[in-house]
Amino acid sequence: MMAASQSNEYWPIHLARSDGQGYVNLDDEPLNPDDQNDVATRERWEITVAEQLMEQLKPDDSKQKYKLVFPKGYELRYVGRKDEKRDYYMHGHPSGPKATYRSPKDFALHCIWLASASTDNEGCLCQYCPKYAKKMGSEVQATQPTTATSSASTTSAKQAPATAPKPAPPQQPAQQQQASPRGITNLTNVFRVGELVWYKHTAWRLGVILAIMPKPGSAVRAGAPDSSYHFTLAPLGHALLDQNTLVKDCQSMRPFLTFSVPGAGLDELKDKTFDSVNWQALTARYSQETDPNQRDVNRQVLGLEASKMGARAINDAFSTFDLLAQGSTPDGALQVQHYGGVYLGAEMIRVGDAIRVANPAQELSASDQTAMAVPLDANLVMHVTEIQVITPTTATNIAPGGDAHATLRFKGNLYRTVRYFLAQGPPQNSVPAEQLGPAFVEELTTRSTIEMDRTVRWTWVLVAAQVVRVEQDVQGRFYVTEKLMSVIDPARFQTWVQRGLLEEAPAYLNNRSHSGGGAYAGRKPGRKAMLGDAVNVEFRVPMGMIEN
Ligand SMILES: [Zn+2]
Repeated sequence: MMAASQSNEYWPIHLARSDGQGYVNLDDEPLNPDDQNDVATRERWEITVAEQLMEQLKPDDSKQKYKLVFPKGYELRYVGRKDEKRDYYMHGHPSGPKATYRSPKDFALHCIWLASASTDNEGCLCQYCPKYAKKMGSEVQATQPTTATSSASTTSAKQAPATAPKPAPPQQPAQQQQASPRGITNLTNVFRVGELVWYKHTAWRLGVILAIMPKPGSAVRAGAPDSSYHFTLAPLGHALLDQNTLVKDCQSMRPFLTFSVPGAGLDELKDKTFDSVNWQALTARYSQETDPNQRDVNRQVLGLEASKMGARAINDAFSTFDLLAQGSTPDGALQVQHYGGVYLGAEMIRVGDAIRVANPAQELSASDQTAMAVPLDANLVMHVTEIQVITPTTATNIAPGGDAHATLRFKGNLYRTVRYFLAQGPPQNSVPAEQLGPAFVEELTTRSTIEMDRTVRWTWVLVAAQVVRVEQDVQGRFYVTEKLMSVIDPARFQTWVQRGLLEEAPAYLNNRSHSGGGAYAGRKPGRKAMLGDAVNVEFRVPMGMIEN
């Protein structure tokens, strides 16, 4: 499918957004499409900026070449010199018509920020943005002198960058990709906004996290665990049933993948999907009951059945957000889109996250990257560096009912944890967890805390570099053992600590593909569409997250 990527032609890259101002009446001259020098210079800018961008977005050795389509409102112009040569300047930065970039590398810094999920100019490394951010900031402060800076959303937005993943190569300055992740309290916490969860309400029920707020009266510090928060949930069922939202804490919640969804309890719903049921007629029939108590029971039965079917439908779909870049194959047949994140069934997964992936034995044994035999039952964790959606260009409009033509792929290095004897030194291909992000660091911390044998250590080992896993091979997000177990079974975790022996936490989780059982729906236009009529409220993604 990606054979075309070996072509020598340039693929166009479009940035999903632009802040270009499209200034008019500039002194500099517009480029002349008939002037060889102008044309060559323009192309050099397009290629150089694209190279810098792809270094950020595709840190692999792909031979594909790209050309940037200048973001809207940006224009390359020139000033003639006395010696007849021309100096070229890129116009369009919101700082003003005089704020021009003199080289493609200068401009690339700004394009990298435009391609990131950050909407804060302070996060941009170009020569104009930091000053611009300061100026805009003081203007905002002047008009809103008493803004409550201690509000919950501000706190969580500010704490996030400290722990944000850095998908950029190590040589890039740290603040490069520091978008505060939206809807996430802490990168290694278990629950995120929009996720499907189980919650305890006499029995276990299914619901969707609408919002996460610090518990009243508690000052939430950066890195606070799930237990510091309250979760507003919309019960899963059917919109017709008017179920009320409720508030829970993490101790009475479980990730969706910890339990399997039971089969249909009503014969007439067997082998049906959520969307193929006439809920209107069913609700009307069940409401005909004259005994008010029985009517109430009927309603609850319907709600339970609807929630199970709704959960399967959600688990069988995905939706994307924060488009970073897109392009198409030279023959125009395929569109390739790079995203900052995806709602994959029950969970939210972002670039920089760790995910559990399948372990196809033949592929790994063939890999010369493998320093040691990988046990078939090894838990493989991918550090996601790319989330791609590949769509035939003839089918890029996502139907509300779902689009099974879109192929979702995850790219990144595969790692596994290895226990080794200190005396023998770390195994080959050991990678410092700090290079991989907080989930990897915290997992090793958990393991060394539990480990009683002082002659051994734990490390992450690279299993394969820059591999691709399609949607079906992704089992779910990787949870740090301590974080997961302190939500799903704190007592069991304590016994592990006391015994000094750790079990593999993924054994307590299903794989996504085992939790569906409905009909694969594929891509949906957004999380709200994925939830459909299964919830009674209108779901809104967190501010600043752009579904596209
Ligand atoms: Zn900038």
